[in-house]
Amino acid sequence: MSCQKSLKSSQQSIPSYTSITVTGAPSENIDEAVDNEVVFEFGGPLGVTAMMIGFPPLMYYLWGCLNFYGGAIVSPLNLDLWKQIIDGAYPTWHATTIYILFALFQLFLAYAMPGPIVQGAPVPSLKGRKLDYLCNGLTSWYVSLIVSFVLHVYGWFRLTEVIDEFGRLMTAAIMTAFTLTIVVYVVTVATNKQHRMSGYLMYDLFMGAPLNPRIRHVDLKMFVEVRITWVLLFYITASAAVKQYELFGYVSAPMWFMVLAHFLYANACMKGEECIPTTWDMTYEKFGFMLIFWNLAGVPFTYCYSTLYLHISSLNNNKPLEHSPGFTVFCYALLLIGYYIWDTANSQKNRFRMIMNGTYIPRHSFPQLPWGTLENPTFIKTQHGNLLLTGGWWGIARKIHYTADLIMAFAWAFITGFETIIPFFYPIFFVIVLIHRVSRDMHRCARKYGKDWEEYCKKVPYIFIPGIY
Ligand code: NDP
Repeated sequence: MSCQKSLKSSQQSIPSYTSITVTGAPSENIDEAVDNEVVFEFGGPLGVTAMMIGFPPLMYYLWGCLNFYGGAIVSPLNLDLWKQIIDGAYPTWHATTIYILFALFQLFLAYAMPGPIVQGAPVPSLKGRKLDYLCNGLTSWYVSLIVSFVLHVYGWFRLTEVIDEFGRLMTAAIMTAFTLTIVVYVVTVATNKQHRMSGYLMYDLFMGAPLNPRIRHVDLKMFVEVRITWVLLFYITASAAVKQYELFGYVSAPMWFMVLAHFLYANACMKGEECIPTTWDMTYEKFGFMLIFWNLAGVPFTYCYSTLYLHISSLNNNKPLEHSPGFTVFCYALLLIGYYIWDTANSQKNRFRMIMNGTYIPRHSFPQLPWGTLENPTFIKTQHGNLLLTGGWWGIARKIHYTADLIMAFAWAFITGFETIIPFFYPIFFVIVLIHRVSRDMHRCARKYGKDWEEYCKKVPYIFIPGIY
């Protein structure tokens, strides 16, 4: 049946998810072609080399401006700034041990905790075989929270150490990320398990050599994406909140906001972990500097600038920053609206795909939001075999979940006020990341789905904001 002809009939309502069977084998040839195609992203070998060299100094510079100059943009040629940075971020065994023990503890939890096993998407380079993923993020997350609470209460590891040792922990994270990038690359090439290589050393280091690296059943890509990044980000903020409480006897509304924001994000990644194995990052991206550095060091130590600013400004002014009740309520509302759309849009698509593939497992983790699972959604059945959802949030805009994520990102920055631009680094950077990500994804989907993708784009013409763009 041609996809053109079948389009109308395939945009049907689903009477009941269980009564529909997906027919038509996925086109392995096109999947393989897309999977093997080397596309030079990020400015190619030169662009990625510049990023690998440029990211760490940028992180140190922005942290230095926040930590030593209250968020003022100081000249990067100011030698005093760099002396202070070296002093505050000098590598120590103490900070490196904290970081490594944290990562190893998370690895142990990922290995040992119970959770459902979910199948990923067919892997073209494994002849369409689906890999199993143990999704124990939620139990690991709860155990982490309990263990860190006990360690703090009994004084074995004070949570405030995270914010006190921020600069040195960041150095430990950066060193770990570079080391892991090189080790993973060398081991993969030495064992001849490399995939989709460009032949340019720096580019291959950046994009990665292995597609599905594992330690026993622990998938390393999923591990760093979920278990280090967001957990560490949450701990940085929780640490700043505890510090504020110890110094001032209370936690301000903006600091509570950041605790809530980072808790919601980390918690969402854990509670929806079973949706991750079929995502683009798992099926297509490789395990290189981009994923390793960004998850081990970049995200936790840059997405936290709002928290850092609230922390530093309370030390500098001898009192925590507060806003008018109206502005505070506005920021909380923005965060919760953004979160609601983001959470439900992601779960609508992922659950739809899982239900249709027969891999759906109902979970009752907190919070389960209304409209997270669609009843009778419309969709397009592609000639490839995959289904493209056109109902729910996915009928409103093709990347509405990106828009919602951005709304949250801007809310995180707004809560710091407008005294310094540094907390806006994350939302501004994120706009660039998501626009680039959209263009990569559109290119890949257009190639994969051909005319069906064109029809889908006609049916859902807007990308980010319905009626506008
Ligand atoms: P998406 O969730 O948009 O996944 C894109 C893939 O979904 C496509 O390649 C396609 O895969 C499939 N797809 C696209 N449209 C449809 C549709 N209508 N129906 C069914 N399937 C569809 O992208 P990401 O993986 O980038 O993002 C996931 C979440 O992670 C987002 O909420 C994003 O905001 C967040 N994120 C956060 C980042 C951060 O740093 N904070 C960074 C990156 C992402 P297929 O080939 O299977 O059809």
